[in-house]
Amino acid sequence: MVQYSLSTPIEYLKGVGPQRGDVIKKELGVFCYVDLLNYFPFRYVDRTRFYKIRDLTADLQQVQVLGRIVSKEVIGDKRAKRLVAQFKDDTGVIELVWFQSLKWIDKVIQVGSVYIAFSKPNEFNGRISMSHPEIELYDPSSKKAGNLTLQPVYNSTEKLKQFSLDTKGIQKVQFSLLELILNQVEEILPGYLLEKHKLISRRQAYQFIHFPANQSDLAQAQFRLKFEELFFIQLKLLRNKLLQTAKFKGAVFANVGQKFNTFYNELLPFELTNAQKKVIKEIRTNTQNGVQMNRLIQGDVGSGKTAVALMSMLLAIDNDFQACMMAPTEILAQQHYQSITSLVLADFINVEILTGSTPAKKRRTLLAKLLSGGIDILIGTHALIEDVVQFKNLGLVVIDEQHRFGVEQRAKLWKKNIIPPHVLVMTATPIPRTLAMTLYGDLDVSVIDELPAGRKPIQTLHLYESQRLRMFGFMKQEIDKGRQIYVVYPLIKESEKLDLLHLEAGAEHIAKVFPLPKYRISVVHGKMPVKDKEYEMQRFVRGETHIMVATTVIEVGVNVPNASVMIIENSERFGLSQLHQLRGRVGRGAEQSFCVLMSGNKLSREAKIRIETMVRTNDGFEISEIDMQLRGPGNIEGTQQSGTLDLKLADLANDQAILQEARESVIKIFEDDPQLANPKNQLLAAYFMTKHDGIGWNKIS
Ligand code: ADP
Ligand code: MG
Repeated sequence: MVQYSLSTPIEYLKGVGPQRGDVIKKELGVFCYVDLLNYFPFRYVDRTRFYKIRDLTADLQQVQVLGRIVSKEVIGDKRAKRLVAQFKDDTGVIELVWFQSLKWIDKVIQVGSVYIAFSKPNEFNGRISMSHPEIELYDPSSKKAGNLTLQPVYNSTEKLKQFSLDTKGIQKVQFSLLELILNQVEEILPGYLLEKHKLISRRQAYQFIHFPANQSDLAQAQFRLKFEELFFIQLKLLRNKLLQTAKFKGAVFANVGQKFNTFYNELLPFELTNAQKKVIKEIRTNTQNGVQMNRLIQGDVGSGKTAVALMSMLLAIDNDFQACMMAPTEILAQQHYQSITSLVLADFINVEILTGSTPAKKRRTLLAKLLSGGIDILIGTHALIEDVVQFKNLGLVVIDEQHRFGVEQRAKLWKKNIIPPHVLVMTATPIPRTLAMTLYGDLDVSVIDELPAGRKPIQTLHLYESQRLRMFGFMKQEIDKGRQIYVVYPLIKESEKLDLLHLEAGAEHIAKVFPLPKYRISVVHGKMPVKDKEYEMQRFVRGETHIMVATTVIEVGVNVPNASVMIIENSERFGLSQLHQLRGRVGRGAEQSFCVLMSGNKLSREAKIRIETMVRTNDGFEISEIDMQLRGPGNIEGTQQSGTLDLKLADLANDQAILQEARESVIKIFEDDPQLANPKNQLLAAYFMTKHDGIGWNKIS
């Protein structure tokens, strides 16, 4: 009889017991055996090789060096007394330094003998040294020489350490667990996939991830477990997509009709870019075959997503469907309404707007008209999603500037018609490919990767506080040319009051430098009553004010083509994607536009990278990749609520290749065997039948 299983509570493990069990549960969220098995080392100490002194840098973790002590002396006065030994191999010499237990160390180490020193290299005044190395006499005949393995290092906590569960302690517990339970770890991937992707068995992978004998074991274990993790996410996403396609028919937009053609040939004031044409074509194809479309359009700010959306909506109308377009804010909805109605006349199509501030009476007539089919395009905010908003025959929903629009909200829209409408999600925040594949793995993705011709790339410069006068001079010059200017201040919850003070002080300062009546200024921030905010925004939009001093409320979507300068105060406090979004508010007209990043003199390493990146490139995709490298995928805008990113081992910033391989593998499987009915895919089918414990699959959304 098996006494232990993967789900046995942790306290039953030899060396744990009730007391330590409690602490482990509280501190690590590890409740049973399989949880502990999945508590992986976060790094490994490399004792598989000796480093050469020449190769030591301060970037290395702990390493071991084989060398000879050539001299030693105790130096310094009483307070700063230390023992310094010169340690030499055939490539160089470093200092080993001890500040404590000097007498004892002095006795242990002998000048002329060979030792293994183990520690993290430091750099001081350009010279490498090691402080308090573990030191051991080298015995070439001993097998133990250098203790040749990779030692796992586990995260521990102060509390755990009180119960002797530092990394060494956890190592011990982990070791006895593996002895006990490893043979119960079952394979969950079919053999043919193991072979195809050169994966080691699951059992072996767990063994090696905790106790690798060498780098190659470790690499194999990591690859196997990361692959598995990403594979099952993709399996789930792509299966959902398949099921949905099978379950829902899509409205058929068979014809390119009169509205679409008239608009394209007569009303559209510019030539579409090739990228816009390509995406419209993708949408065309996707809405012709009776399958419901769920498509994400990624296009950098200013790439012309609105035109693509409008033409898709005309396509719907040509096929006797209605369309709607949802924006995240009232201002944006207004802008869409204005830009669309300025392109198409009322006798061409009927466009209406519905937001939270639509008066009740107007709202009633509007809703009635919508239900009777008197409205072709309804533009609005989230209000559109409410159940009272009913269409006669909704065929297409466009969701603008939303990366937070999750599966659930999409599902709510699907219910708006008997045949669920096609859904287009548009985002101007490019996200890294790996994230798109994970977060939107069930969506088709179109990319508008080209800006309209003739756009001058925005010039970005970085100025320090001491150069403020120069900035004011530059502002004057641009205003005199007839341009408008944004000045943006950071505002975050934690320091809201102070931030508002900064904004007010900044606005006052600007008002002094740019006095009435020649110059007019708008001030807008999130704490103002909506009405005042709206009023000030509109003044700026109409060109009545020259400078808009604001917090990030203007971040998303606002379109004032005459505004050609974006000044970002305290730019070191903004994240990369936010900076990019803000910069995208300018560069919308024919004029050369500028973005000025103001900062203090002291910048953290990351702030420096962010600012340098902004100055170097306008490419949103490149910026998003760097953003992910800096902050990790879990912190990228729009991903916070997504359980999909609770990855145990895989890392979307660095494991793109593995993700790609896993996704392609899944695509192939479904192509050959959409039902997973083939016996060779039995294990995969079983994955959807059973609840696996401890793999964290239940967390995967
Ligand atoms: P975004 O993708 O950021 O939503 P918009 O759709 O607001 O961009 O377009 C930005 C500006 O570019 C608008 O003023 C729009 O009229 C203009 N525009 C869009 N497509 C083209 C094009 N092919 N050629 C010239 N201007 C264009
Ligand atoms: Mg837009």
